[in-house]
Amino acid sequence: MDIRVEKAKALKELPDPNTLLFGKVFTDHMFLMDYDAGQGWHDARIVPYGPLSLAPSCMVLHYAQEVFEGMKAYRDPEGGVRLFRPSENARRMQSSCQRLCIPTIPEEDFVEAVETLVRLEERWVPSLAGTSLYIRPFVFATDASLGVHASHSYLFCIICCPVGAYYKEGLNPVKIYVEDEDVRAVRGGTGFTKCGGNYAASIRAGERAEERGFSQVLWLDGVERKYIEEVGSMNVLFKVDGKVITPKLTGSVLPGITRKSCLDLLRDWGYVVEERLITAQELFDAAEAGTLEEAWGSGTAAVISPIGTLAWEGKSVLINGGQIGSLSQRLYDTLTGIQWGTEPDPYGWSVKL
Ligand SMILES: *Cc1c(COP(=O)(O)O)cnc(C)c1O
Repeated sequence: MDIRVEKAKALKELPDPNTLLFGKVFTDHMFLMDYDAGQGWHDARIVPYGPLSLAPSCMVLHYAQEVFEGMKAYRDPEGGVRLFRPSENARRMQSSCQRLCIPTIPEEDFVEAVETLVRLEERWVPSLAGTSLYIRPFVFATDASLGVHASHSYLFCIICCPVGAYYKEGLNPVKIYVEDEDVRAVRGGTGFTKCGGNYAASIRAGERAEERGFSQVLWLDGVERKYIEEVGSMNVLFKVDGKVITPKLTGSVLPGITRKSCLDLLRDWGYVVEERLITAQELFDAAEAGTLEEAWGSGTAAVISPIGTLAWEGKSVLINGGQIGSLSQRLYDTLTGIQWGTEPDPYGWSVKL
């Protein structure tokens, strides 16, 4: 792919790595590439970060034909920069695009675009422990038209922002409740894609959870309202009686790269891992029997987010005494060690730039 580079005239001052907030400060440049039905994907370019100009009738603003990805670049101890399994993000975006009738971007072009932008923005990859450069690739429909059909033109864009350490003082377990009113996704819908619409539909439950003193919700399936799907915008895993169980990818669950990496590690470590339907009842029964040993969310932002309290239908259970469990901690240490290049990477997941 031919990428034209137009550098910013003046570079921004780097923010203090101790006080970085998520998604507030963006780097000097962004990657753009256009699609139209006649030419396909064309005009790959890196330009100064700045506003886009869109028609008010721009299709994405009305019908939400849009998908995105989330990944990070990490500073390793040698001062180099690494990505984590970037091909997985490329392939997941293709799968999201297919569901939303958006033309796909070849895997190698996606990875090349990310790598080229991150190399140019190298100075923005912070080195303070736990910090990283968050990378947000996204594609959206740009036709200036209100007709309900697939757009004929699209913009692929990648922006980056430095992010602070998710955990400043160790991994603190969160309080979660089972959401029994709103649903995030249904089978046959878009739950397995990273599309903005899924998030729009999930915001209300998240707000209510916060009002009630919880960090996030545990989503149930949209049909029977009894099977566990995800926690907030993370996948969810449980250790029950020595085994690890996690909801299977039925179409309404997002296939997380952190989830997949956890399952790979756990199988490698000799754990029995089951991907299957899990009812909320099963979890609360296990908690009552004393076999719900650990619960945690998994995702790029937090890596591992231990669940300390789980509430459902007026009952509340404390998991592992509200403390992080040893398996959650081991997963966190291993994954972050591979991502930041401080631990061996026998799987070839870490990609040096
Ligand atoms: C992105 C995302 C995840 C986590 O995926 P990772 O690839 O591990 O970051 C889980 N659930 C939802 C709904 C997501 O959007």
